[in-house]
Amino acid sequence: MNLIATERKSPVLSRAEFGCLRGAHTINVTRGCEFDCVYCYARGYPEAPATGQVYLYRNLPKKLTAELDNPRRRTPVGRVIFNTASDSFQTHPDILDITYRAMRVLLERRIKFHS
Ligand code: SF4
Repeated sequence: MNLIATERKSPVLSRAEFGCLRGAHTINVTRGCEFDCVYCYARGYPEAPATGQVYLYRNLPKKLTAELDNPRRRTPVGRVIFNTASDSFQTHPDILDITYRAMRVLLERRIKFHS
């Protein structure tokens, strides 16, 4: 796997637009996924990187904190779903570090999450 650290520019929390997850807040720690499962629908997304490349959003915990603590936030965050287009528990320690830090941000605010 070629791990590439990058800065997330768009909001970290996005809203799912499909199936039973519709409207739920979602987080993906990376763009791309080292596991490369043959059945993965996310590999077909236009923004999916080339096989073997994984982009890690190193500013994700900081941006997540800012989004949750923004007093102008309109939609409350009741629960968060990780891993709609990646996997938070890929093996690289830098990915795991960002994952744990993001989950800590949620736990400190008593926001439920699952994957
Ligand atoms: S996002 Fe999930 S299904 Fe897709 S390659 Fe990663 S682990 Fe497999």
